[in-house]
Amino acid sequence: MAGPTETDVCIVGAGPVGLFQVFECGMLRMRSVVVDALDAIGGQCIALYPEKPIYDIPAHPAISGAGLIEQLIAQAAPFRPDYRLGRQVVRLGREADGRLRLGTSAGDEILARAVVIAAGAGAFGPNRPPIEGIEAFEGRSVFYAVQRREDFRDRRVVIAGGGDSAVDWAISLAEVARSVQVVHRRPKFRAAPESVARMEALAAAGRVELVVPYQLRGLAGADGALAAVEVATLKGETRRLEADALLCFFGLAMELGPIAAWGLNLERNHVRVDPATCATNIPGVFAVGDIATYPGKLKLILQGFSEAAMAAHAMHAIVFPDQALHFEYSTTRGVQGIAA
Ligand code: FAD
Repeated sequence: MAGPTETDVCIVGAGPVGLFQVFECGMLRMRSVVVDALDAIGGQCIALYPEKPIYDIPAHPAISGAGLIEQLIAQAAPFRPDYRLGRQVVRLGREADGRLRLGTSAGDEILARAVVIAAGAGAFGPNRPPIEGIEAFEGRSVFYAVQRREDFRDRRVVIAGGGDSAVDWAISLAEVARSVQVVHRRPKFRAAPESVARMEALAAAGRVELVVPYQLRGLAGADGALAAVEVATLKGETRRLEADALLCFFGLAMELGPIAAWGLNLERNHVRVDPATCATNIPGVFAVGDIATYPGKLKLILQGFSEAAMAAHAMHAIVFPDQALHFEYSTTRGVQGIAA
């Protein structure tokens, strides 16, 4: 087997913040290898909401999850990151010369002077409802995210959940689906009040049916194709909702996975960092984006971008211990391959 790949920085996670970390490292002449457990670049933006508009990215009044990732990939491209997808970083160790050695689930190894954990919600996955046999329908007629709204055109859709995703998709799919029924265990929804008002207006107009207070109880169908969703109240009254697709929005299960065993200071599944540098308690290891925590932390993409800039400046001293860092604006330094 080939020896380890040597690089300046290894970034764990190719979500929006990991991608911007490549850019920030590149501006300070540090090369990056980026590893992601998923087969696609983009983290939550691609896995969970590629078509949804994001409104709070500076200078973009609205940009879709997929659009933002496309731009970040283009911004990082001049620095030629080495993307290793479809593999989890499972091991972190230290060599005698001080470098960090990372091992992935695919068996490859990376030797880096610094490591940035940009692992978001960790090895994230949706919270699944405890329904027996649901696995047989997953990916065919039961989904935990909408990749393409068009996939639901003229279909009978049941949406389960009471938060923003459930309400937003009920509003959006009401335009294309044959029917939309929203199952929630209480009459009150936890989403943005304006969205709830819009959904209730659609319900009053007969475009959406609110099935409350009900919970999912079972699925009927064969070979992964759904025929109906069975729901029940706490008192045991039941209903059968004829359906072609069930969308479950019960939030994300945050699981740190192997990262939890690396000896990092953890706080409720997040990695505690110094807010001035994003350094963790392990020398040479930094954490940015959703996985990093400190007093006042906001889990926003824009805050992750700023953390990536701070971490890159702090890592420069580790990667180039003999070189003083002269702060430069990007307008002064320029980016090779990008026209001035
Ligand atoms: P992530 O996007 O979570 O990416 C982390 C990556 O790390 C993943 O791809 C994962 O596979 C990988 N990974 C984890 N562990 C390992 C490992 N051990 N080895 C290899 N890879 C690993 N934020 C906003 O600012 N504005 C919004 O409007 C907004 N809307 C949102 C709407 C929805 C529906 C959701 C779910 C989130 C929204 N967010 C929004 C939050 C935003 O998406 C996150 O803050 C952002 O994705 C965090 O980026 P990240 O790069 O830190 O992590």
